[in-house]
Amino acid sequence: MTDGSLTTVDAYQAAILAAISPLPPVSLSLTDAEGCVLAEDVTAAVSLPSFDNSSMDGYAVQASDTDHSSERAPATLPVTAEIAAGDIATYRLAPGTAMRIMTGARLPEGADAVVPVEWTDGGAERVEIYRSAAKGNAVRYIGGDATAGETLLEKGVRMRPMQIAVAASAGRKMIKVRPRPRVVVLSTGNELTEPGTPLVPGQIWDSNSYMIAAAAHEAGALTSRRAMVPDDPAGVLPALTEQLSRADLLVTTGGVSMGGEHDVVKAVLRELGTVTFRKVAMQPGMPQGFGTLGEGRVPIFTLPGNPVSAYVSFQMFVRPAIAALQGIDDLRLPAVRATLTGSVRSPHGRRSYLRGVLAEDEVTPLSGQGSHQIAALGRANALIVVPEETTALAAGETADVLVLP
Ligand code: AMP
Ligand code: MG
Repeated sequence: MTDGSLTTVDAYQAAILAAISPLPPVSLSLTDAEGCVLAEDVTAAVSLPSFDNSSMDGYAVQASDTDHSSERAPATLPVTAEIAAGDIATYRLAPGTAMRIMTGARLPEGADAVVPVEWTDGGAERVEIYRSAAKGNAVRYIGGDATAGETLLEKGVRMRPMQIAVAASAGRKMIKVRPRPRVVVLSTGNELTEPGTPLVPGQIWDSNSYMIAAAAHEAGALTSRRAMVPDDPAGVLPALTEQLSRADLLVTTGGVSMGGEHDVVKAVLRELGTVTFRKVAMQPGMPQGFGTLGEGRVPIFTLPGNPVSAYVSFQMFVRPAIAALQGIDDLRLPAVRATLTGSVRSPHGRRSYLRGVLAEDEVTPLSGQGSHQIAALGRANALIVVPEETTALAAGETADVLVLP
C-alpha cells in the first residue's frame, strides 16, 4: 500500500478499521444516552410488571361470581372500593363483591378477573354485569413481560427510544455506554466562502463541511463544523491541532489530489508521518488520506474536495469508522440487488459508485455522474456499485445497490 499504486476499497476499509479502537465507556443518564451504544447488559431489577394489575378500566371480581351473567340475567355485585393507578394500599376482595379498578391499578387480593366497564352498567354502589369474565380476564400478571434478573438489553445495542424506555423500566437512571463520537469537520480551499455571503466569480459556497457534518450526525456522531481553512501550508496544521481536544475524529475535505503545493492538506500532513495518502481503486473518491494526529492519536480522514467524492468517501470509510468508535461492527450500508433501467460505464480497475434512484427492485442511473455534480447527488437515494473488473452494465442487468441513509 504505497503512493502510486492503487489500494482496493476493501483493503483500505480494513486498514482503517484496524487502526480504530472503540471509545472508552462512560456512565450517562438516560436523557443523554440516546444514540449511544450500550456497554453493559441491562437486566430487569424487578419483574415486569412487578405486580398483578388491571389492563382495563372496570371491576375487579372473582370470575366465578360472573358465571352465566348476561344482558337478560346480569350478575349484580356491591361495589366496595375504587382502586386507581398508583394506589399502594392493600385491598382484599370478598367473594360476591366487586371493586372499581383503573388501568394499571394493582389487583386486589382475592380477585382473579377484571370485568371491563363496557360489559357493565358502570354502577358506583352496585354494578350490573352483562357478560361472564373468565379467570385472568383483563389481568396483567406479575412477570408477564419479563422476570426479575432477565437480560432486557444486550451490550452493543444502540440506545434508540425503545431501548431507552426498556432501561427506564428496568429502573436504571444511569447506563454504561460508548458515547457518540465527537466529529469535527473542516473544509479547505481558497475558493470557498460561506453560504449566505455574496459570491465573486472564482469562488464557490462551501457545501462539503455542511454535508459531512450532517452525514456524521446521521451516522450517530456529535458534530461540529469549523471555519474554512485557506490553502496556506502554515495555517493548516494549527487549524487542525486546535480541534484535537474536542474531537474523537477529524474530517477534512479538499487539498489532497495531485496539485503539489496547492494541495496543502496532503503536503503538510504527509510530513508528519502519521497520515498516509493513498490512491484507492474507486470512482469517485480516488485520493484518500487517513491516519492520526497529535499525542492522543485522534483519527483523521482527509477526503477529496469534489462534493460527490467527499460524500461517497464518507459513506465508505468515515461512516464505518464512526461505528467502530462506538464498538459496532456491522458497519455497511444496506445492500440490495436491483435491475438497471439504463446502462452504466465504469473505468477498468476501479469500483464505481454511481448515483441512482432506487424504486422497489429497479434502479435508475442519474445523468450527471461527474464528481462535482452535486445537483444529481441531491436526487439520488442509492449508489450503484460497478465492480473493478466490469466496465459496463446494460439496462436490464442486475447490480449491487447501496441504499443511502
Ligand atoms: P480539491 O480536492 O481541493 O482539489 O478540490 C476539488 C474540487 O472540489 C474543486 O473544484 C473544489 O473547488 C471543490 N471543492 C473543494 N472543497 C469544497 C467544498 N468545501 N465545497 C464545495 N466544493 C468544494
Ligand atoms: Mg482545494
